[in-house]
Amino acid sequence: MNNSVFEKSAEFIKKIGTEYGYSSDVLDNFLTPNRIIEVSLPITSNGQIKLYKGFRVQHSNFRGPYKGGIRFHEDVDRDEVMALSLWMTLKTAIANIPFGGGKGGVRVDPKQLSEKELEDLSREFTRQLFDVLGPDKDVPAPDVNTNPKIINWMADEYVEIAKSKGLSLSDEALYGTFTGKSISNHGLDGREEATGFGGAVVLREIIKKQQLKPENITVAIQGFGNVGYFFAKFASSFGFKIVTVSDSKGAITDKNATLNTNLDIDKIYACKIEKGMVAGCYCVGGVCDINDGKVITNEDLLTLPVDVLVPSALGGVINESNMKNIQAKVIIEMANGPVTPAAHKYLTEKGVIIVPDILANSAGVTASYLEWRQNTEGVKMSKEGVLEELERIMTEALDDVYAESEKKGTDLLSASYGIALKRILEEK
Ligand code: NAD
Repeated sequence: MNNSVFEKSAEFIKKIGTEYGYSSDVLDNFLTPNRIIEVSLPITSNGQIKLYKGFRVQHSNFRGPYKGGIRFHEDVDRDEVMALSLWMTLKTAIANIPFGGGKGGVRVDPKQLSEKELEDLSREFTRQLFDVLGPDKDVPAPDVNTNPKIINWMADEYVEIAKSKGLSLSDEALYGTFTGKSISNHGLDGREEATGFGGAVVLREIIKKQQLKPENITVAIQGFGNVGYFFAKFASSFGFKIVTVSDSKGAITDKNATLNTNLDIDKIYACKIEKGMVAGCYCVGGVCDINDGKVITNEDLLTLPVDVLVPSALGGVINESNMKNIQAKVIIEMANGPVTPAAHKYLTEKGVIIVPDILANSAGVTASYLEWRQNTEGVKMSKEGVLEELERIMTEALDDVYAESEKKGTDLLSASYGIALKRILEEK
């Protein structure tokens, strides 16, 4: 059996590509990454030098500079980074932003490093990749276990070297080499909200297409981190009834699980910050923070009789073991890969509308595009301006994919890949 994630993704894309009439030569050419860079990163720890392996895969720049995150994780390998870079090429094409696809990673458990070692590693990775990065070449961002602080180190290092080499761009433009920087370091106001907000816009638009009204739609959200919280907040402001939310320790719903109560998202958020968990917002020591709350498990949340499910935590949570119990009619994939291929097939055949991750959570990379544009054009955006632009781009992306799925009679996943291939192979 082939265990390569890249090969499995390539197989699926070849299947869709063949249906769209592309030859295997064209598809093989598209799938092959332009460049795979492997580096060894020597870091001194307690007087000893340790080597860490790093990768940057530049998959495609047909539509613009390579774009994609850098992750720090002990499971990072070449095959995984190749697959992730291919997905970025498709994702930027679906969002219709002027980028290609790339991805990077360092095989390391960052929790084992001191802050100084983490900074050394981030700066060394940037030094070794310097020649292949730049606002018009390759634009990395944060990913698993990397955050604005790490990206700030990388961006600062890049700009320092660029200036020492006499590169003629302004500082602001040079900072466009990395996105996901903190706001005070040339970053974007609104990046924090972006992914959840974009997902809520997608929900609003898909429900509009079913000619339904938000106030009649019940929504269950799994995961109450960055994505889940902002999704809940904005979907609630659009009028949807958020009836349950969860984190890793459990879910909360109304007292009798009637699924009729619109939860107060900001109150739950404040309570989660204080208690450390959403389930702690039910009753602690006889004191109830959320009136009439009830705690249920994450598995129960997925099978509730709600209209919309929004998995926003982990991959693979809707799978062969629970797919027959799923009652929602719409699933918005905000986490990466929350519905397994087998469950996707079963549920779409049953008529469930699944908005794929590559579209649903693409407001994150779209915000990266706005940050890059802000840096390279030197025009600062307000948070309101960012959200407005995200709303426009996400609505158009959904409209295009939805129209394609209607035209071809396919699900939204196949239509997303079909559109991406057309944009990459025909419009360049
Ligand atoms: P986060 O770490 O801020 O939040 C994750 C949330 O999931 C937390 O509330 C955590 O308690 C919860 N969780 C963990 N295990 C769980 C479990 N077993 N059951 C229920 N909840 C559980 O992460 P995030 O940034 O919100 O990202 C969530 C997902 O969205 C990830 O799959 C991520 O790859 C994907 N994603 C995020 C972005 C982004 O911009 N943040 C962009 C694209 C995709």
